[in-house]
Amino acid sequence: MTAHEASGLLRNREISSVELTEAVLERIGQVEPNLGAHISVTSDLAMKQANAADLAIQEGVVHSLCGIPIGLKDVLSTADVETTCGSRMLEGFVPPFDATVVGKLRGIGAVFTGKLNLDEFAMGSSTENSAFHVTKNPWDLTRVPGGSSGGSAAAVASYECMVSLGSDTGGSIRQPASFCGVVGVKPTYGRVSRFGLVAFASSLDQIGPIARDVEDAAILLEAISGGDSNDSTSLHVEVPNYCEVLGRSIEGLRVGVPVEYFGSGLDDDVKELVLKAIDQLADLGAEVVDVSLPHTEYALATYYLLAPAEASANLARYNGVKYGYSNLESVDVSDMMASSRARGFGEEVKRRIMLGTYALSAGYYDSYYLKAQKVRTLIRSDFDEVFQNVDLLAAPVSPSVAFSLGDRIDDPYEMYMSDAMTIPASMAGIAGLSVPCGFAEGLPVGLQMLGPALSEPTLLQAAYAYEQEAKILFKAPSLDV
Ligand code: GLN
Repeated sequence: MTAHEASGLLRNREISSVELTEAVLERIGQVEPNLGAHISVTSDLAMKQANAADLAIQEGVVHSLCGIPIGLKDVLSTADVETTCGSRMLEGFVPPFDATVVGKLRGIGAVFTGKLNLDEFAMGSSTENSAFHVTKNPWDLTRVPGGSSGGSAAAVASYECMVSLGSDTGGSIRQPASFCGVVGVKPTYGRVSRFGLVAFASSLDQIGPIARDVEDAAILLEAISGGDSNDSTSLHVEVPNYCEVLGRSIEGLRVGVPVEYFGSGLDDDVKELVLKAIDQLADLGAEVVDVSLPHTEYALATYYLLAPAEASANLARYNGVKYGYSNLESVDVSDMMASSRARGFGEEVKRRIMLGTYALSAGYYDSYYLKAQKVRTLIRSDFDEVFQNVDLLAAPVSPSVAFSLGDRIDDPYEMYMSDAMTIPASMAGIAGLSVPCGFAEGLPVGLQMLGPALSEPTLLQAAYAYEQEAKILFKAPSLDV
């Protein structure tokens, strides 16, 4: 059942939120030992919220997410609930406040079932960088769920919650959504407040929904969007009714196919499915044309200077004094800071901090950081230019289906390559999503759609039209090894 279906039943009192939440918690109990999508399961909080939601529904409160079980990526500050970012550094850290998005969902009566696993501080593409445990792909337990929001995608795909929130800095919502066969939306930079999202790369980070269909994603996106005085980068632009556009025809919509996304390195199976999906958009009346984004090949290198540079500054706050892990056996202050960071952070996080510090250091700043900023502008101009002629772009999300656990973890460069197709849109700050477009080798494949800033209504409209036409409607994974 999707959230919008459950919401109808809740409102007609055919089920209660308590029943729904109990069913979800039971499901978590069944599959979690094999899957590992959660860092913590918040059963007591969920039951309390479910009871409150049932009362609110009796009194006629009608937000469609009232009483719906929702999972939260463990990078979102949640009042009185441990928030670890998948790191030893923040193990046991209980924030005193809600992220803006968490507060919004709490306010409309959503039920929080747990905090979901991720790569440490959202750095990774497989969820194998979590300090606690790996998460497996529900379609094949020997494969990765993608990352960094791997727990958020795996939990939704395996019915451990109805919808979830993830965060996307360079692809961390779209890629796991693609690998797990669910819908994931990366909103326009600034569309959703980042207040209370633990910062990785502040000029890129965005929170977004993961859902089993486009309608659920639209409902959740609407609930979390909007300007926020606590986030000066948030956009104070009216939030549209995202569900209103669902079901509208896409006749005449201009869809660009960026040639750079279909070159060597793209698996044949994935290519075939994505091209078939684009044909289906044409059958629905879209005008499909080839376009070029010539600076695409520089996006990955640029990202791996800028994102680590921002991370190295953001993660300076974890010094053993204010937050989380502190080595209490150190001999003096400087040893305390150095050893707390050495022990509290995992390998990948340390690699990023070192890369970023290097790119920002005197003598290298101009040739690395500043140059990367200039290339970022070129990448953004590529998108600006193509969006003069097309309404949206259609492309693969990832060059392959979910890879095997352990396959890429010892080769950071190979892992970074997984994001070559999601990073350019992040650099440009534009909107994007992943919608399931079929199965290759029994594993899900996602179609990526990208649109200009604040084009979420068009993207959702097109994704919905495609979803209804292709009828790759959600089916449950068997969770077999
Ligand atoms: N996989 C990319 C990285 O490792 C993107 C991560 C993200 O979007 N949070 O940085």
